Amino acid sequence: MSVISNSNGQSASHRNALTAEEKRVIIDKGTERPFTGKFTDYKEKGTYTCKYCDAPLYLSDSKFDSHCGWPSFDDEIPGAIKRIPDPDGSRTEIVCANCGAHLGHVFTGEGFTSKNTRHCVNSISLNFKPGQTMGKEVKTETAIFAGGCFWGVQHYFDKAPGVLKSEVGYTGGTKANPTYREVCSHTTGHVEAIKVTYDPTKTSYESMAKLFFEIHDPTQTNGQGPDLGPQYLSEVFYADENQKAIAEKLISILTAKGLKVATKVKPAVTFWPAEEYHQEYYQKTGGAPYCHVYTKRF
Ligand SMILES: [Zn+2]
Repeated sequence: MSVISNSNGQSASHRNALTAEEKRVIIDKGTERPFTGKFTDYKEKGTYTCKYCDAPLYLSDSKFDSHCGWPSFDDEIPGAIKRIPDPDGSRTEIVCANCGAHLGHVFTGEGFTSKNTRHCVNSISLNFKPGQTMGKEVKTETAIFAGGCFWGVQHYFDKAPGVLKSEVGYTGGTKANPTYREVCSHTTGHVEAIKVTYDPTKTSYESMAKLFFEIHDPTQTNGQGPDLGPQYLSEVFYADENQKAIAEKLISILTAKGLKVATKVKPAVTFWPAEEYHQEYYQKTGGAPYCHVYTKRF
């Protein structure tokens, strides 16, 4: 049997002994009482690790004051956290990706920080290692695409190799922190979009962009599939000149194959995560996309 090591250098199967109260939260998915945990107002620089397996989960740089009574983080160490929709479909549980320890829940769209995400974590699920950071910094890249109803787009990107996480949201418009209702009303100029975070040692922007062009119809000019309206248009939001060049190259390949590509290529602007109930929609509901099919084009 091979031993998998996490970035902390420990065996992936290493587990610490738990007290009864730790077990109640970490294994039995309980919740500690608000304002009682040791890390709620903790401000030291360092890394928060999993109480059960020692995997690094959050850096102190992502911790913020939410006054909700539990430690709050607006981002995780890439690949460290697994999201699991609650059976009632209303909340998303977060667990340690290495050992499955229950951490808490994640919420989006509350506007606490620019990342618009709050990992609400039980202090008792965490340990703390002071110092700058520990473990290897995982270098990640992001890509933003709009290709119609974001439920279907996320369904396909989540299955792609090298994707660490994805978020659906709104971009390209004028209003800060728009709601779904506002975007649907066509007054904000936003499109439904996805922000994909990937590991560039396992995949590439070109692979992400090819997938984008293969899971929607880039020739449709008035929306996507049955979803008509400006919020469903096909657009690539590039982060740099390299992404722009790759998107334009793929469009020229498709054009050479006879496709009349309607996709617009634009510089990335603020991406606003959508309401939590839109995240991982098909995973939560067990449904399948009605609006997107995979078509090999490259
Ligand atoms: Zn763990």
